[in-house]
Amino acid sequence: MAKIQRHHIYLFLALVIVARWILKPSYVETIQANPVRDPGITIDFVSLYKEGVAHLLKLLAIPTVRKDENKVVDYLNSVFTKEKIKTRLVVHPERKDKVSLIAEIGPVNSKEGIILMGHTDVVEASDSWMYPPFNPKVVDGRIYGRGSLDMKGMLAMEMMTLVALNRQNFPLKNKIMFLAAPDEESGGVYGVQYLLDKYPELFNGYKYVINEGGFGIQNFPSKGQSFFNVQVAEKGVLGLEITASGSSGHASMPPKHYSTVSLMAFIQKVMSEYNFVKVTDQVLPFFNELSMSFNFPNSFLLRRLRNPVFKQFIINKLTERNTMNAMLKNTVAVTALSTPANGVNVIPDHASAILDIRLLPGENSQAIFEDIRKMGRYYNIEAKRISDSEPTETTANTPLFKTIKGVVHASIPNSRVAPYLSPGATDSRFFREKGFICYGIIPILISLEEVSLLHGTDEYITINNVEMGINLLTQIVLQMNL
Ligand SMILES: [Zn+2]
Repeated sequence: MAKIQRHHIYLFLALVIVARWILKPSYVETIQANPVRDPGITIDFVSLYKEGVAHLLKLLAIPTVRKDENKVVDYLNSVFTKEKIKTRLVVHPERKDKVSLIAEIGPVNSKEGIILMGHTDVVEASDSWMYPPFNPKVVDGRIYGRGSLDMKGMLAMEMMTLVALNRQNFPLKNKIMFLAAPDEESGGVYGVQYLLDKYPELFNGYKYVINEGGFGIQNFPSKGQSFFNVQVAEKGVLGLEITASGSSGHASMPPKHYSTVSLMAFIQKVMSEYNFVKVTDQVLPFFNELSMSFNFPNSFLLRRLRNPVFKQFIINKLTERNTMNAMLKNTVAVTALSTPANGVNVIPDHASAILDIRLLPGENSQAIFEDIRKMGRYYNIEAKRISDSEPTETTANTPLFKTIKGVVHASIPNSRVAPYLSPGATDSRFFREKGFICYGIIPILISLEEVSLLHGTDEYITINNVEMGINLLTQIVLQMNL
C-alpha cells in the first residue's frame, strides 16, 4: 500500500472544500414556531361560528362592486356598536362614498398592537354564475357569493375575533384594531393610502398588520398535507400603455415597418427581455419550507436554487407552474390590444397595447420604465405609465410570524407555514412602506381550484373555513397577548 503523503492530505482537503461548495444549500435558516400556551380562558366558539356565518351572509348581500362600500361600513358599525366596541369612521373629503371604519379594543398604551384589516369592495361578477352573486346561497356547506373569499369572509372572521376578545374582557397587552377600507380593488387611493397619508396618528401603538395575500392550501404539495402561504412580500406593478405610430397605406403594398407590426415586435422584445429567472432572497425561505415536504432528490434541489451546479435540474420544472414562475421572474402580460376600426385593406397609422408588468423585489419601476421607453424609440413606440407601485417586503423573523406558525401547527395536522412572495398587490404595500410588519394570510384551507375562484365565477367559501378562520385568528391574537 502506498504511503500517505502530505500532498495526498492536501488533495483530500481540497476535494472536501470543493464538494462542500458544490453541495452548499442556498438557504438553511428556518423560522421556528412559537409553542402554543394555554390562554386560561374558554371561548364559546360555537356561537361565534354561527354569528360569523350570519354576518357574512349579510355582508355578501350588499353589492359593493367598486362602490357603495359605505353600506358595508354601516352594517359593521351597527354590529360593533351593539357589542359596545368604539368605532371611528373616516370619510374621504373628495369622495364622500369612500368611508373607512376603525374599531379598537385594548389598552391605551401599546407598542405592538395588531391591525386586522380588510377591504369592503369587490370586483365585478359575470352573468354566468350558478347562483346570483349578491344573493348568497348556502349549498352543501358552501357559501356562494362575490367577495366570499376576497375578502368579506375574512372581514367576518376579523370582526368575530374582536368581538370574542371584547366579550371575554381579556386583559390584552396591546391594542387590537379592526380596519375595513374601501377602494382596494381600484388601487386603494381613497382607502388605506389616504388613511396613512392624512391620519398616521390613528395607527400609533401598532406594529403588525394581518391582511389578505395568502391562504392555507389543501393537499399541497401532496395529498394529506397543508401548506400555509403567509405573504411577506409583494411584487411591484408597472402598467404601461404603448403606442406605435407610422403612416397608413394600402394593405396590398405593405412597407417593411408599420404600426401594427412594430407593436407586435416590440411586445415580443419586452417579453423576452424580462423572461429570465432571478432567485431573490424573498423566495428562498418559501422553497426551503417546501423542500421539507419532499424526498430526495426534490428536497435536495429545492434547497439549492442558486447552486450553479444543481439549479438547472429544478428551475425549469418550477417555472412550468404559473404561480412559481411569477415568484421567480418579472412577468409581462399583454392585457389589451387596439387599432382603429379600418377596413381589411387599410394599414392603420397607429396601434396600441396595454402591458401589465410585475416586478420582483429589488427591481425599481422607474428604472424599468426608462429602459422600456428607450427600447421603444427603435420601434417608433411611445410608452406612457398608467400605474405603478414598488415591490414591498417585511421580515418573517418576528414573534407574530412564529405565533402564526405555532398556532397553525398545533391546529392543523401535517401543516407547514412558509413566508410567501405574492405576485398580486394588496393594501399591505401602503403599510409596509410606512414600516409596519404585514402578513397576508386568510387562515383557511382551500384547494388550488378554489384559489382560481378569486375574481372568478361562482366564488364561494365553505362554512368549515369560516369557522377555521375565526378559530385560528382568535388564537393567534390571544397567543400574542399572553
Ligand atoms: Zn382582495
